[in-house]
Amino acid sequence: MLNIVLFGPPGAGKGTQSENIIEKFNLTHLSTGDLFRKHLGEGTDLGKLAQKYMDDGNLVPDSVVIDMVKDKIASTSGAKGFIFDGFPRTVPQAEALDTMLKEFDSDISGMIALDVPDDELRTRLLERGKTSGRADDQNVDKINNRIQVYKDETIPVAEFYEKQGKFNKIHGVGSIEGIFGEISTVIEKL
Ligand code: AMP
Repeated sequence: MLNIVLFGPPGAGKGTQSENIIEKFNLTHLSTGDLFRKHLGEGTDLGKLAQKYMDDGNLVPDSVVIDMVKDKIASTSGAKGFIFDGFPRTVPQAEALDTMLKEFDSDISGMIALDVPDDELRTRLLERGKTSGRADDQNVDKINNRIQVYKDETIPVAEFYEKQGKFNKIHGVGSIEGIFGEISTVIEKL
């Protein structure tokens, strides 16, 4: 399996680049943010539980996220590999993911980290908020909290993969095609 963690702060372009990656490399997209929004839209118990965390830009508890990802992986048969988008966001999530993949005799092939300055993130998220309908994209305080949560809780995940020799950083400002070209070069070498 070719399993990739697409990593970066909110607004780095993970969703956009995931679409390009799944098309070119025929991988299955697993975005925890998308899965939570689906639950929210369907009014499930999981959606109701996640809502208050999402609305404030805080992380949903690890056990909830991990169980949701386990279910998703278990219900996806015949995947050539996964592109993990917005997951793992904490070190316990990254450890749980390694354990899950071991059951398939597999592991993470590599992590690709999109690097984008904070000011650019704020501009992009506010712009996206005009059309995304996402409450967490429309308020500067919530956006700032999400960026801070990323720094406090998610950056250690980069170190987790760096120690495994799987960390690849890409400058995430420029044309979508140009950035995708760099991502492709990294994936082709994995
Ligand atoms: P995203 O679409 O990836 O920006 O995620 C939107 C929101 O969903 C986040 O601000 C969190 O509240 C929640 N979320 C998504 N993925 C995770 C995760 N891996 N761990 C915890 N919370 C998450």
